[in-house]
Amino acid sequence: GLSPEAYRRKHEITVTGVDVPPPFTSFEATGFPSEILREVLNAGFSAPTPIQAQSWPITLKSRDIVAVAKTGSGKTLGYLIPGFIHLKRCRNNPQMGPTVLVLSPTRELATQIQDEAVKFGKSSRISCTCLYGGAPKGPQLRDIERGADIVVATPGRLNDILEMRKISLHQVSYLVLDEADRMLDMGFEPQIRKIVKEVPTRRQTLMFTATWPREVRKIAADLLVNPVQVNIGNVD
Ligand code: ADP
Ligand code: MG
Repeated sequence: GLSPEAYRRKHEITVTGVDVPPPFTSFEATGFPSEILREVLNAGFSAPTPIQAQSWPITLKSRDIVAVAKTGSGKTLGYLIPGFIHLKRCRNNPQMGPTVLVLSPTRELATQIQDEAVKFGKSSRISCTCLYGGAPKGPQLRDIERGADIVVATPGRLNDILEMRKISLHQVSYLVLDEADRMLDMGFEPQIRKIVKEVPTRRQTLMFTATWPREVRKIAADLLVNPVQVNIGNVD
């Protein structure tokens, strides 16, 4: 196999931060539980994508991370699989609220993330539900009451449900901001900040974004603690 440096050069990976672990250049190197490995092999995947290879060893060490990589680079499993492993360690009661919270800009994307969480988390017995606007609240509130380990939500709808006091985020210890650049473009910054106030500060925070403009840097600086940054390709 390639050395960590050669692998990073080949895949245009740049890392910033202290004590950055080397990439996992194969699925075998990840040490994932066998039921998770079985799911990725069943999906026909032959190797981690570069963002997965470099972000997984960081996230599995419970470090905060900023991952900048373009669309289609496999970011969803980049944060979901370490989230599954985090859930196995916590063993919280999902009826008391989610442990993993993923914020996503749109209903369509949130639904896709939920589908991926259900597909890859099924054999690990992980439950996931989705909250988004443009649909009645009733069924979503019932899903919350039933309990879910992972909640994937658009910031607007989650904020509404928080204001109704129909969800508790006191158990959240793994917070993902997916497509952070797009959420800020859509004007969700106030809702994101209100939501994060309800999440305990003792948590792991992950930010995934396709671009790295000033507004995204600012919210990353406010919400993440001593993060490692991983960029794939050229990032401005
Ligand atoms: P992004 O969030 O970066 O836009 P996605 O997470 O949606 O990308 O992934 C894009 C596609 O790549 C999805 O169909 C996903 O199932 C697939 N994929 C994820 N990881 C791998 C992998 N290691 N090998 C091959 N395909 C993968
Ligand atoms: Mg994505």
